[in-house]
Amino acid sequence: MQRIYLDNNSTTRPAAEVVNAMLPWLRDHHANPSSPHPSGEASADAVRAARSQVAALIGSQASEISFTSGASESISTAFASALSTADESRTKVIVSSVEHSAVKYNAERAAETGWEVVTIGVDEEGRLDRGALLSELDESCALVSLILANNETGVLTDLEGLGAACRAAGASLHVDAVQAPGKVDLDVAALACDFLSLSGHKFHGPAGIGVLFVRSGHPFRPLILGGPQESERRAGTENVAGIVGLGCACQIAKQQAANPELLSTIEGLRNALEQRLLAALGNSRANGAGAPRVPGTSNVYLGGSEAAFVLAMIGQAGVDASAGSACNATSTAPSPVLMAMGRDEAEASGCLRFSLSAHTTRDEIERAAETVIAAVEALGAL
Ligand code: PLP
Repeated sequence: MQRIYLDNNSTTRPAAEVVNAMLPWLRDHHANPSSPHPSGEASADAVRAARSQVAALIGSQASEISFTSGASESISTAFASALSTADESRTKVIVSSVEHSAVKYNAERAAETGWEVVTIGVDEEGRLDRGALLSELDESCALVSLILANNETGVLTDLEGLGAACRAAGASLHVDAVQAPGKVDLDVAALACDFLSLSGHKFHGPAGIGVLFVRSGHPFRPLILGGPQESERRAGTENVAGIVGLGCACQIAKQQAANPELLSTIEGLRNALEQRLLAALGNSRANGAGAPRVPGTSNVYLGGSEAAFVLAMIGQAGVDASAGSACNATSTAPSPVLMAMGRDEAEASGCLRFSLSAHTTRDEIERAAETVIAAVEALGAL
């Protein structure tokens, strides 16, 4: 039987259209977009078209888009740039307590090099303490970095007005929007951000390609040096096939985010899974369910079973899910995101994340729910 894949926040399957768009650039064309001959110009045209597709997804100008190897590079570049171009009087960096490790580790590196890093907490549903953030935001702040859609819980950060507040304080705002494409409308003007990061494989594009948006005119210093590519913002010969695939994925994500019926179908399946688990498993709860969330993410406390054991058992039975961020999957430490939401270690170690896609079916959800319930009951009986 086909495996049931409920781990789309870790990575998604590339869409058929994405693979088809990429194939000619892997098989038939190989010229360097910087080469001044017709084959090189064809590659440069393909990169240009993809840049416009990314810009259309986030409401930016094409010239504000740089391609990177993924979101981790994009986030690292935003941090390095914002901190190296900030005025010397600025000493502070603000992040939230539910950031992905890509932001968290960059904030830790900043702290090691003398920056004061202020971490703003969230409530038990994962909602940012906006008041605390606004009271920390002053003229000593160089950078604020916030996740838009949480990778573990799906909870959406309310960024309303924060971009304007950052601008008034003269601080750069970076938005980690990696989990947002295809799920919510993305608009850099409304977000009023200076940097925004995306990663192709999180929304049915290829892995190994990402995006850094830098607002036009915003001070910028590249992290990767070596050549004039990407308007001197990111050196290195372009991954043309990856860029073409990413552009195609942006087009699909834009259509999906503008399709309320599809989004409510995904949400309905997520809710059905949650309701079935919560009804069957005593003492269970859905983390972040009281806050606005993206439609396809569910994070469930299973009522006392160790998530790692349940994960192994359902994996054997054909269901792929996750016990938190894939980047922390090899760690046995409880999820820092759930701990930040006030869960204790035992509870944070007893949660599973299910992340759906537009391809998830009702039959898969029903079979996955029964598989999880059977695994928890079997563990309970031991
Ligand atoms: N930010 C968030 C919210 C993520 O979910 C991820 C990946 O899990 C990243 C950043 C890093 O993306 P990548 O591994 O593609 O560089």
